[in-house]
Amino acid sequence: MPRIALFPGSFDPFTRGHEDIVLRGLQLFDEIIIGIGRNANKKRYFPLEVMEELISETFRDYSGVRVLSYDGLTANIARENGAKFLLRGLRNTTDFEYENSISQVNRYVYEDVETVFLITSPHLAPISSSIIRDLHRYGQNVDSFVPYTLAPSHNESN
Ligand code: ADP
Repeated sequence: MPRIALFPGSFDPFTRGHEDIVLRGLQLFDEIIIGIGRNANKKRYFPLEVMEELISETFRDYSGVRVLSYDGLTANIARENGAKFLLRGLRNTTDFEYENSISQVNRYVYEDVETVFLITSPHLAPISSSIIRDLHRYGQNVDSFVPYTLAPSHNESN
């Protein structure tokens, strides 16, 4: 039985911090599915289709990594895709508080699922999607924070 993990997130955008979690996760799992959660209540900054394409391109040489977008409950998506593990990254105690409760909920929905946490690599700990969005919105180059190249922002009111 292959060990399959779902790495769920908003990935708005996918960062070098996320990439590090996937690469390290490949030491533990045969397959990692990067799941971009659609949230009807949250307007994205980077369109989902664009991010799906950029992440796929980033891992084009890794046969054990694939990308999907999903609606609905993360734990159900894991079950439907044969993933017994959820992969998440932890940067600090704020992440921990949130991850603690969400992992309990995921087990309530799918009792066989186990969440595996990887502690951030220290040099990537300060990277967050929200900071990258802010930098990009105001025209700052963000190439050092993401594992692909983003087109510059043309709209300061984004
Ligand atoms: P969500 O909206 O579900 O929190 P994110 O896209 O913000 O999704 O993050 C997905 C996962 O990646 C989360 O577990 C988050 O803690 C983790 N993560 C985010 N940034 C980093 C980083 N720099 N290093 C390690 N893990 C990270």
